[in-house]
Amino acid sequence: MKNRSRSQIDVVIATRNTGKMNEMRKMLFNTSFSAFSLDEVSVLEEVEETGTSFEENAMLKAETYGKLSGKLTIADDSGIEVDALGGAPGIYSARYGGDGKDDQDRNKLLLENVEGIPEHHLTARFRCVVALWNPIDNTIVTFDGKIEGKITRNVRGENGFGYDPLFFFPEKNKTLAELTLIEKEKVSHRGEAMRKALAYMETNVLSLQGD
Ligand code: IMP
Repeated sequence: MKNRSRSQIDVVIATRNTGKMNEMRKMLFNTSFSAFSLDEVSVLEEVEETGTSFEENAMLKAETYGKLSGKLTIADDSGIEVDALGGAPGIYSARYGGDGKDDQDRNKLLLENVEGIPEHHLTARFRCVVALWNPIDNTIVTFDGKIEGKITRNVRGENGFGYDPLFFFPEKNKTLAELTLIEKEKVSHRGEAMRKALAYMETNVLSLQGD
């Protein structure tokens, strides 16, 4: 049973990625919003990411999952862009190398694909777009965030998920996987996009109140 006050507004976090879920849920703690996962609102369907940008995919997920649950819904689409690879894997970050691969396989593949490129040329960034779908008026708003860094072959860190262990963040002299959840949230693409989304949600609380 969730501990929530009467004025809390339900919001569904539309992702099945545990890493994203932990980060987004954490950012909704102690706000006017009570977070629910897709499972918690009995949404079992999968949305195919057919968009051609982070924004299109985030909007597609927020709207489709939103209509399935009928609740205020936020979805994130994110990924890593490596300049030396022409911005790849970008929106295909979760599917890099095809089906049947896990985070470790994808990290290995990324390092293979940058073999021979000096580390100082391995500039990269994570991008995130958070889309918010409102059931009251069937509208979507989006918020973005990014973090600049470099791909490192000195893969390290146990925290985070995905490409975090090979993403070196110069300001902290650490990979993102060496940061705690709270440290990562302060500097990350998702942290930035979620802060913008939350500021919007807090100032538009009444028009977001569905049931
Ligand atoms: P999607 O947004 O579901 O298409 O998947 C985004 C993919 O990008 C994830 O599965 C990760 O591989 C990668 N990604 C996005 N954000 C992060 C992050 O904060 N850390 C590490 N990898 C990330």
